[in-house]
Amino acid sequence: MSDCVFCSIATGKIPSDMVYQDEQLVAFRDLNPQAPVHVLIIPRAHLASLAEAGPEHGPVLGHVLLAAGEIARQEGVGDGYRVVNNCGESAGQTVFHVHFHLLGGRDMGWPPG
Ligand code: AMP
Ligand code: ZN
Repeated sequence: MSDCVFCSIATGKIPSDMVYQDEQLVAFRDLNPQAPVHVLIIPRAHLASLAEAGPEHGPVLGHVLLAAGEIARQEGVGDGYRVVNNCGESAGQTVFHVHFHLLGGRDMGWPPG
């Protein structure tokens, strides 16, 4: 999608601090980090939110979760990290290209706000 900021990051049109990429995903540091490690993992293909995902998205979404573990280990937080998806405006989603926050490097509270 041409007016989507995360599509533009995936194609390299907008610069980012990328930490991992493969044929299906890219992962880059959040501009406004909420933890010492705060990486966003996105499918390259545009999908507005998890609520719009169908069975065809199962493989890429599974790949995101496996990649999160790899990236956490690469970032030195493999022993404790959180993966968060904000789905919909009321849950705090502000960018409508599905993305997973990988957070680590500090103690986390529960429940999240
Ligand atoms: P969410 O509120 O779950 O939709 O998360 C969107 C996240 O994207 C926020 O944590 C923002 O700080 C982050 N963000 C927005 N634009 C960029 C960008 N160009 N590069 C890196 N992170 C971004
Ligand atoms: Zn997009």
